[in-house]
Amino acid sequence: VSEVRVAMTADRAVPRARRIIAVGSGKGGVGKSTLSANLAIGLLRLGLKVGLVDADIYGPSQPRLLANEGKKPEAHDSKLFPVPSPWGVPVLSMGHLVEPGRAIAWRGPMASGALGQLVDAEWGDVDVLVLDLPPGTGDVQLTMVQKHKPVGVVIVSTPQDLALIDATRAMNFFEQAHVPVIGMVENMSGYVCPHCGESSDPFGHGGAEAVAHAEEVPFLGHIPLDLSIRQDSDAGKPPAATDSPQGKAFLAIARKVAA
Ligand code: ADP
Repeated sequence: VSEVRVAMTADRAVPRARRIIAVGSGKGGVGKSTLSANLAIGLLRLGLKVGLVDADIYGPSQPRLLANEGKKPEAHDSKLFPVPSPWGVPVLSMGHLVEPGRAIAWRGPMASGALGQLVDAEWGDVDVLVLDLPPGTGDVQLTMVQKHKPVGVVIVSTPQDLALIDATRAMNFFEQAHVPVIGMVENMSGYVCPHCGESSDPFGHGGAEAVAHAEEVPFLGHIPLDLSIRQDSDAGKPPAATDSPQGKAFLAIARKVAA
């Protein structure tokens, strides 16, 4: 974490947009995109200028999550310009470049080339670029660590064993590539029934925290499985923009990432 802090405050001669914080997971569907959007908003609320690259090339969801779906980025001199969002975080996503609902069937080198265009866009004076990675450890992740050199990565997992095994693998991938693991987030951690108020743990509880402890990486926090998170996310209203309990949970994670 201290390396992240140094990189975020040191040497302004280095293009500021190079301060990339990646968000990765072993599995899909664990909440990586949801966390990326809310982490970006959280960091913005802490006073940083933040941009978001949706590198989940095969399943881009940031235009929906940050409510700038259907807008096209401008391009000048073969450079892309990020698409503003109503939440103050500009976004670039493959979702802005292809027709909605069209499948993207690319081989690794094309996907990696597209990632380069998104990262090397005109990000202006942003302090931090949050980079929502595709799940796993494939070509896009390799290009990202080799070419774009993130200052750190946040790993998201549900507390379920199957997800944790893959999260541990993803973490090892980043450690081997000398990308510091900023910490782990446990998402979908506990569910309170809106009808009877009883709490249950559909995916277990505490598993990611235990793995973070075993792997000696910081644990950044739990996010509950919560209907309002799903509904607000689908509606392009990131909970982190509010002071709801859900918003505060994301904000607490952003504080630890920025610390
Ligand atoms: P990933 O990027 O890992 O594939 P997403 O962020 O797209 O995962 O999340 C998958 C689905 O789960 C989405 O429909 C999202 O709204 C929902 N989701 C994610 N986190 C939560 C949560 N904490 N509570 C409720 N729904 C969630």
